[in-house]
Amino acid sequence: MNVVAESTRIAVGVPRGSPGEARVALVPLVVPQLVKSGLDVIVERGAGVSAGFPDADYAQDGAHLGTRRDALEAEIVVRVRGWGFDGHGNLDVSHPDQVIIALADPLGSPDAVRAAAEHKLVTLALDLVPRITRAQAMDALSSQATVTGYKAVVLAADRLPKMFPMLTTAAGTIAPAQVFVVGAGVAGLQAIATARRLGAVVQAYDVRPAAQEDIESLGARCILLPLAPGDAEDQSGYAKELGGAFYRRQQELMAQVVAGVDVVITTALIPGAPAPVLITAEAVEGMQPGSVIVDCAAEKGGNCELTRADETVVTDNRVTILGPTNLPSTLPHDASLMYSKNVAALLGLIVKDGRLALDREDEIVRGILVTTGGEIVHRRVRQALEEARDD
Ligand code: NAD
Repeated sequence: MNVVAESTRIAVGVPRGSPGEARVALVPLVVPQLVKSGLDVIVERGAGVSAGFPDADYAQDGAHLGTRRDALEAEIVVRVRGWGFDGHGNLDVSHPDQVIIALADPLGSPDAVRAAAEHKLVTLALDLVPRITRAQAMDALSSQATVTGYKAVVLAADRLPKMFPMLTTAAGTIAPAQVFVVGAGVAGLQAIATARRLGAVVQAYDVRPAAQEDIESLGARCILLPLAPGDAEDQSGYAKELGGAFYRRQQELMAQVVAGVDVVITTALIPGAPAPVLITAEAVEGMQPGSVIVDCAAEKGGNCELTRADETVVTDNRVTILGPTNLPSTLPHDASLMYSKNVAALLGLIVKDGRLALDREDEIVRGILVTTGGEIVHRRVRQALEEARDD
């Protein structure tokens, strides 16, 4: 059954997330603006429930409720994590020229990229949105990293056998917790802000010299290592891989810092590469009993040598290491609200006067378009796939 069979408007399908994913790609709040712009929104029944958005709210705001198939057959399908056909699931209901939008990690998901090209799908990766002012409203990496940084600190505070703030009471004075944040991008800066709000004393480090000002503006102390990374930043403002010798020296210096703190939050990432290992097993051995590491880079291998993705490791010297891989999904309501705004902003760019208008001259479209017409058109993704094949 096609729930909008009579309509000539473009349909946007919102299927339920993959197992373990609690977020939803569009929340009811953004539906009226999409309907006004000429789109029909088709939501799989129950798609928003785990994020706190019941079907009735979607219906009230003008969406159509339908089956999973109804949502997956739409001209545009919006998802949260992955285009939805790793292992070729959902491809049976896809159709050529169908547009799929998601945070899809195309540099790390070669099978999904190849499957999309084979099936002539038009895939857009929200993780590739260029970091330019005009694209800020679509920057889903930033919106979700904000949630990650906040939740990492909340998890650490829950695990730590100490309180975060300094307290002066009749029963004595409690010293504030010492927090060290490694990587001061979006997640790291939010972690600094959250830890400061809870009253911790915060230090932070980033390989990009430009991060010093951001760190200090949040009231944290910037750790300056006697290390010259040279050219640490690429043209887009992301960190570059810096070579074994640099990382070894960095590990030695990190070991000295982590020995004196209660909490370490690591967020260091390099696009398209495994996360750099910055905290070695030896450094963990030197940490105080009861201290906690929350490794937000766990999905990409982790910044700590002992991290295990989605597991809690407690070492012999009683250091707890958490390796969560999807913190935004643990706060699905607000994470979905922000993600929806990103998706709606992108739909505003690619749907004009009720028609799909993918302008490949547009810097944002060029930045996020991965496959179309049976080809992998994104240069960086194509290169990464070719390199992976040659290895
Ligand atoms: P990211 O998630 O790719 O990486 C997180 C942080 O880890 C980065 O700050 C990076 O420098 C750092 N890092 C990498 N290797 C490291 C190492 N060996 N030691 C210490 N730190 C290391 O980064 P992100 O949060 O996506 O931000 C990437 C860049 O984009 C930053 O410069 C950020 O300010 C910028 N940005 C710009 C906009 C915008 O202008 N619209 C929006 C968001 C982010």
